Amino acid sequence: MIKFSDLKLNPKVLKAIEEAGYESPTPIQAGAIPPALEGRDVLGIAQTGTGKTASFTLPMITMLARGRARARMPRSLVLCPTRELAAQVAENFDTYAKHVKLTKALLIGGVSFKEQDTAIDKGVDVLIATPGRLLDHFERGKLILNDVKVMVVDEADRMLDMGFIPDIERIFGLTPFTRQTLFFSATMAPEIERITNTFLSNPERIEVARQATTGENIKQGVLMFKASRKDREATEKRKVLRALIDAEGEKCTNAIIFCNRKMDVDTVAKSLKKYGYDAAPIHGDLEQSQRTRTLDGFRAGSLRFLVASDVAARGLDVPAVSHVFNFDVPSHAEDYVHRIGRTGRAGRDGTAIMICTARDEKNLADVERLVQREIPRLDDPLGGGKPAEAAKPAAPEAEAQAEKPKRTRSRSRKSDDKPKVEAEVPKPVVKAETPEPETKVEGVSPPEPKIEAPEKTDPPKQQDRNNNNRSRNNSNNNNRGGNNDRGGNKVVGLGNHTPDFIELSFEDRQKA
Ligand code: AMP
Repeated sequence: MIKFSDLKLNPKVLKAIEEAGYESPTPIQAGAIPPALEGRDVLGIAQTGTGKTASFTLPMITMLARGRARARMPRSLVLCPTRELAAQVAENFDTYAKHVKLTKALLIGGVSFKEQDTAIDKGVDVLIATPGRLLDHFERGKLILNDVKVMVVDEADRMLDMGFIPDIERIFGLTPFTRQTLFFSATMAPEIERITNTFLSNPERIEVARQATTGENIKQGVLMFKASRKDREATEKRKVLRALIDAEGEKCTNAIIFCNRKMDVDTVAKSLKKYGYDAAPIHGDLEQSQRTRTLDGFRAGSLRFLVASDVAARGLDVPAVSHVFNFDVPSHAEDYVHRIGRTGRAGRDGTAIMICTARDEKNLADVERLVQREIPRLDDPLGGGKPAEAAKPAAPEAEAQAEKPKRTRSRSRKSDDKPKVEAEVPKPVVKAETPEPETKVEGVSPPEPKIEAPEKTDPPKQQDRNNNNRSRNNSNNNNRGGNNDRGGNKVVGLGNHTPDFIELSFEDRQKA
């Protein structure tokens, strides 16, 4: 087996690797580091979780340890599709270059130009940037790219999805023809192939197995979900999500919950919070400072549930995520691979659970084709086929009750400000004969069979059924409810067919 010490890395880099606790290089590292150190172009087909960041940072630090940067002329450039990924790459440089004197600057949007200008003016060895912000600096005449010796393009397929390819081509054109290029992509779409053919010179191509097709350590499962009524789908889907989370119990130490649309990211996060789950949203429309705060909290373990869009979460390295919940089946099958790659990292076990509506079945078929396996079907944690309180056409009031907070799972909140138990509707019973598939087959264990008595009604809360008192019930969380969380702003006078947008809060309507 190849050892790090076989790879001709700078001894100070080897020391940092040892301190990071890595025993041996991952396949992408063993494949990419030697040609990179020889000055060759590298085409790495690998996704996050494979150790690809170190596969370019380690040789870069080794190469850059010699020589010094000149003002405004960075010696190397790393392009990342998102701010979070750029920040993460910067952290990797800090970790692996801690015994080497290297300067770096992070050029990302949402941060003032002034600080970034100052850093560039001093001269940097490594410039880590998102394409748009880099070009902004270039256009302001603050940056000269003629001295770039190594250029990295990270997550090129995401750059493609985000429409950055023209920017990337332009940046390639601004750097010297003689530069070395290290190019990484999880997939090789035709457009990516074209770019690599144009800008890479006789690259060493290293392809590592896709985590989703080989990730024996990720248990996968999908719940086929059908709402009792079309107009209840959103509400019931969120309820099912909570039941799936609850069914995982203590095993679920933390999780990323993916939604396809930003609006749903907000709604799901709000709804979870309302039910006492420790959740916060992250997506591209949020302030950078808020995104950073949320992410830091999640990494530090003070936030348990991160509700995310694909773009915001792409490439995030949070080493110990126990679960990924796909609230929606992603519309691009590739995203499934990226999403579930957030869990089961660096050899740990992980669980990936998805909710699939009838509308998503085509997307599910695409995902299964891509990962070349059938994702095991899960039993409905709310009683399998026996519609979540919904077979019986519940009165809007009963529905509101059923959607009301049941109990909190927040770590931080004190128990006395938890929403109290009040559900009037008996909790549907999970079939006791539910078979327990062995985890070997990579299905997710179904929820423990349990027979539950109807939950006790908390007498004082009964008055909450009165609309006038509802907001008080939720005031702990300062949450007036999402568009379908009818515990909040119930619109009266439109029967059961209130269009979703009418039920949006004022803030949500502005965002929408
Ligand atoms: P990446 O694919 O770059 O996002 O890395 C995924 C995770 O693997 C990160 O948490 C790294 O710290 C970790 N990692 C990278 N290289 C190694 C290695 N050789 N051994 C163990 N863990 C590693």
